[in-house]
Amino acid sequence: MHLSDATWPEAEATDTDLALLPVGSTEQHGPHAPLGTDALTAQAVADAAEAAYDGEVVVAPPIQVGVAEEHRDFAGTLWVSEETFREYVRETVASLAHHGWTRVVVVNGHGGNVGPLREVCARITRHDDADAWTFTWFDVVDAPDMGHGGPVETSLLQATHPGLVRDDRVDEAVEGGADGWGEWVGGVNLAYDSSEFSENGTVGDPGEGSAERGEKLLDEASEALTELLDRLAAR
Ligand SMILES: [Zn+2]
Repeated sequence: MHLSDATWPEAEATDTDLALLPVGSTEQHGPHAPLGTDALTAQAVADAAEAAYDGEVVVAPPIQVGVAEEHRDFAGTLWVSEETFREYVRETVASLAHHGWTRVVVVNGHGGNVGPLREVCARITRHDDADAWTFTWFDVVDAPDMGHGGPVETSLLQATHPGLVRDDRVDEAVEGGADGWGEWVGGVNLAYDSSEFSENGTVGDPGEGSAERGEKLLDEASEALTELLDRLAAR
């Protein structure tokens, strides 16, 4: 059940303690992919798992702004501090728990959210009336060439939101993009902002992406998340 589409009597009639909370970011993804990429992909993975899961799970509306100051030099990027983000997630999970959805998987689509989510999910589980875990979709799929706005995210978008990838700007994305994330010297990343190492924000080759690969990635991510839900339901 998707909370945003349901009425309150429908929400009240649910018979599960499991919920998915998609979390993304609104940030540059090169000249070819939308600012909402991380929220769109997190939502797509949550939706696919909800459909595939052999049981009931509530899908909360997505959190669309995360920890993304590293992309501030590109227009349209939004961000909040880690403290604000953690508190927002914590209170959102507390309100889910208030209605009985006390076991929450935060389905994440953005690298900058990973650390704060791990920390806040542990804090929620240790100290609040809910248990929470964080699931980052690109950590569970075959994606050694992840990059940023690279082939992995571009493929998933091509499968789930084909109209949002600007095919006519993919060449430009590759040309002004970077091969790797950061500026590494002696094991230290000297760059705090993505603009320091990528002219247009892209990392990796989105031209290598395809809808076919996107379907495969979605299946892999959804399978892993469904397995997690099965385990939590039995725990
Ligand atoms: Zn992204």
